Amino acid sequence: MPLSPSYQRSRQLLATPLSQVRGVGPRVLEKLAKIGLATVEDALYTLPFRYEDRREIRKIAQLRPGEQEVFFGEIIASGESQTARSRKRLYEAVVSDGTGSIALKWFHYRKDWMKKRFAVGARAFFVGEVKRFGAIREVHHPEAEFVEGEASMDQLVAADPLSFGRILPVYPLTEGLHQKAARKIFKDVVERFAPTAISPIPAAILQRRCLMPLAQAFQQAHWPDNQAHLQDLAAGRDPARRALVFDEFFFLELGLALKRRGVVLEEGIPFEVAHRYTKPLAKLLPYTLTDAQRRVLGEIKRDLMAPHPMHRLVQGDVGSGKTIVALMAALVAIENHTQVAVVAPTEILAEQHYLQFHHWLGQLGLKAALLSGGTGAKEKRAILEEIREGRVDLVVGTHAVLQEGVEFKRLGLGIIDEQHRFGVRQRGVLRKKGSNPHILVMTATPIPRTLSLTLYGDLALSIIDELPPGRSPIKTRAFPDPNRSRAYEVIRHELEAGRQAYIVYPLVEESEKTDLLAASEGAEYLQQKVFPGHRVGLLHGRMKPNEKEAIMADFKARGIDILVSTTVIEVGIDVPNATVMMVEHAERFGLAQLHQLRGRVGRGSHQGYCLLIRSQRCSEEGMRRIQVMCETTDGFKIAEADLEIRGPGEFLGTRQAGVPDFRVADLLRDGRVLEEAREEAFLLAEDPDFLSGEQYAELRSALMERWGSRLELASIG
Ligand code: ADP
Ligand code: MG
Repeated sequence: MPLSPSYQRSRQLLATPLSQVRGVGPRVLEKLAKIGLATVEDALYTLPFRYEDRREIRKIAQLRPGEQEVFFGEIIASGESQTARSRKRLYEAVVSDGTGSIALKWFHYRKDWMKKRFAVGARAFFVGEVKRFGAIREVHHPEAEFVEGEASMDQLVAADPLSFGRILPVYPLTEGLHQKAARKIFKDVVERFAPTAISPIPAAILQRRCLMPLAQAFQQAHWPDNQAHLQDLAAGRDPARRALVFDEFFFLELGLALKRRGVVLEEGIPFEVAHRYTKPLAKLLPYTLTDAQRRVLGEIKRDLMAPHPMHRLVQGDVGSGKTIVALMAALVAIENHTQVAVVAPTEILAEQHYLQFHHWLGQLGLKAALLSGGTGAKEKRAILEEIREGRVDLVVGTHAVLQEGVEFKRLGLGIIDEQHRFGVRQRGVLRKKGSNPHILVMTATPIPRTLSLTLYGDLALSIIDELPPGRSPIKTRAFPDPNRSRAYEVIRHELEAGRQAYIVYPLVEESEKTDLLAASEGAEYLQQKVFPGHRVGLLHGRMKPNEKEAIMADFKARGIDILVSTTVIEVGIDVPNATVMMVEHAERFGLAQLHQLRGRVGRGSHQGYCLLIRSQRCSEEGMRRIQVMCETTDGFKIAEADLEIRGPGEFLGTRQAGVPDFRVADLLRDGRVLEEAREEAFLLAEDPDFLSGEQYAELRSALMERWGSRLELASIG
């Protein structure tokens, strides 16, 4: 679809290289390039990271302690001195303006340079936070802008309207480009080019949400007018920034809305829910489903019966019982003579799912198969054929299931477990294995709402917000390494009560070898020195799949009391009799990982324990994470804390997880704006005119441009 001419023109203008801006020579250009600025648009989106209030220049007598102030004065004394108490050296200058004087202090400085710059008689504007110590006011490490000549302050102010009498932007910049020079450049860019920025968001939406047009937003974000609220500016919540954030979110959400609508418009495989297998399974289960499980299953069934493919995300904390819900959904698909594919992120989890599905399906006269990296070539060929011929009802596996060569006779439902471990792409691959199969993705990583709206905004969401009955929250305690014997006591106590324990070692550096060493040495030490009377087993990533399977089976059957392992057991493993999870070097694990690990215990009705061993050399962040773990077992709270500590980019591991890069928006700060943008975008996507109406030509252009090929929409264009 061609871009509309007016939109194209605007884009061309914004693509103007910065070399064409006044005052930008080759030297400055290079510096700007270093921080990633090449075009006028880049510069427009480089918003000030803070603002300086220079609306008023205060008399020294009127400087307010605790405030960031601007004042003008002459240096009347200057030299090195010492702090009164600790006798630390510092540089001090005294400034006077006739109404009073104030001391400026530096604790890090180069003496010669200071002497020259802050010479007696020099006059400057100073900016800094005024501190009060008793009757004495001073400013530490102020910024100074020196002036030459004899002009009075008022004359100076009048002569430089760009620097005084207003709120000034302060830009994030590299060394060698002064704020003053930067301001000039940005001012020029904003004046010339902000008016050419058009956002095709319909005027009705802007009005409804009280948003200023994009051009004005750029202007105000760079050069706020004097009525602007300083606190809002400082917090990034001023109306200008809000408009820019909205703009950014709106197009993201519009794309998601269309994706969703695209799915909804597709023809799916409407299932009938006849309870042929689901009822008997419910009878076989040793428990009844929780209300939350039942509700979510109801939501899934409703989707499955619709004439369009389901695209649903089930979110539920570790241990909330997602597997059985998935199995029930699978049975509905099988009742309707279609096949099911289940994809899990690790071999062990795939194997475990297989064992469980095989167990239940077998009793119903149905057939499950396992496809993993370790499946032998001959066996694999046989399985592939059975899948192709439709003799297998359900296939479980790692991404091996997604590979070419795996062809289904009739795939009706694709399930992705622990979706957060996969990128967004896998979903698409799975879909192409059938003709518009239903898709169910499950995640235990409770994703804060703002993130899930951006990541999974095109999926319908079901939440299992209830744990099976009889679970008491896991008790979590941290032990400094030298106190580890107290952690061993807890383990011993549990073992004697007939329970089992996990002990997990972290990834040491990048080398699997060292990991293995830590874990295997640990296992040996524990067996010989600490728990000689109990059986210690070892599980690690380098074992062959069948070896791993054997160890897990042994642990499940209580042939092993303590399972020492690397993080391979992190995800999804389910051994209800295991009640203790001890984590070595807990500070090295991320919060999500710790939460997952902890979720391995407390899965039965016995009290669960999580023991976090932290080393002497533990970073502050590591400490914070451990503290969060000790304070709460609520996955959502942990996720929020994680997001806060690490920021969204890293929260989900990598870029490939699909978190878009925002230029202005901040998922932590702008959740509210995201919701508003989403509401409007989803509403607009329902307009029947949207895909062809002339009034939306620019909007569609902008959407195409921002999403590019990621939109994958047959229906648009
Ligand atoms: P997750 O949501 O972490 O994948 P699982 O599906 O592995 O959780 O379930 C955790 C444990 O809870 C399993 O041992 C499972 O058999 C058990 N379980 C699931 N649903 C119920 C229920 N309604 N009542 C009792 N136990 C349940
Ligand atoms: Mg699970």
